[in-house]
Amino acid sequence: LDSGWLSSAGSYVTRFEEMVARRTGRRYAVATVNGTAALHTALLVAGIGVGDEVLVPSLTFIASANAVTYTGAQPVFVDVSPETWQLDPEEVSRFLDTGCELESGVPVNRTTGRRIRAIMPVHILGHPVDMDPIMDLADRYGILVIEDAAEAVGAFYKGRPVGSHGSLACFSFNGNKIITTGGGGMVVTDDAVWAQRARHLTTQAKSHPVEYEHDEVGFNYRLTNIQAAMGCAQMEVLEEYVNIKRRIADLYTSALEEVQGILPMKEAEWATGTFWMYTVLVDEYRYGMTSRDLLSRLMGKNIMARPLWQPLDQSPVFRGAHSTGCPVAAQIHRRALSIPCSVGLSAEQQGRVIQALREEGVSG
Ligand SMILES: *Cc1c(COP(=O)(O)O)cnc(C)c1O
Repeated sequence: LDSGWLSSAGSYVTRFEEMVARRTGRRYAVATVNGTAALHTALLVAGIGVGDEVLVPSLTFIASANAVTYTGAQPVFVDVSPETWQLDPEEVSRFLDTGCELESGVPVNRTTGRRIRAIMPVHILGHPVDMDPIMDLADRYGILVIEDAAEAVGAFYKGRPVGSHGSLACFSFNGNKIITTGGGGMVVTDDAVWAQRARHLTTQAKSHPVEYEHDEVGFNYRLTNIQAAMGCAQMEVLEEYVNIKRRIADLYTSALEEVQGILPMKEAEWATGTFWMYTVLVDEYRYGMTSRDLLSRLMGKNIMARPLWQPLDQSPVFRGAHSTGCPVAAQIHRRALSIPCSVGLSAEQQGRVIQALREEGVSG
């Protein structure tokens, strides 16, 4: 505040960008007002627009697919893996192999006639997507990978940071994410031209250093210096926060293994997740009630629980979009419940949640 540089000019924006680039092993980072703006910018920079399609998992927050539509392109919804709940590489492969045909080397959706331009793996709930097979498929079909890592800053896939695999990757620093700037986002890439274009588009595409001349329709998407300063401080505590989240998750997983009908979130052997939002599946037959009944019972005990997002292939907003069939996402959505797991959760509070989950079930 004392520096007088409150909006997007000022040293903290650059510092925050450098910190995120270093942490995610990328050459360039461009800060944005939020994660949705980061996704929109990344898609534009990648040249995605009208007539194009992007593969998006059915089970994600709606912002992933909304960003695709902002560019004039369409999402295609693909199912998630029953093991990891993340975009299923086998389903991506099945669609590209059998649902598309190559027209001058570009995969075209047989149903819609639109070009498949990119895959958007979304690392949901702080757990990485199985990236190796996704990258192989993208290579084989000559399409881009744009990671939505909004929920997974700080996570690793086979020892490499999430956000370091795709041509472009995006993060969110919204208030509900693991670290926050109130609202904020970031696009990361190793491509200098794309980084420059992202910076240009997010600052109203001003083409002259002094004169107000603009060479295309840009956006006011740049993060402010005040928020960036907060981001720098938050980056310093990221590792500590991830460790706390992982401790909370360990305790839940070991305590809930004995509760019949509660299936705790798993971590793949190749993953080091952040457990951003600890989530369980409720097997209504073995537990004795549905996830939604359990949600209201917990509310009655002043314990906040949340369902996951309505699968996007079921969303009225995306009625017109193509889906490859997403029964796994539907099943997870029916059974999933996110339970309290904030960095500030005390051992006593966590004990209360575990106790409540034990008592409500048939085995309790
Ligand atoms: C939060 C989130 C976003 C959007 O980030 P905002 O900063 O809220 O705009 C995008 N994708 C996913 C998966 C998210 O969870």
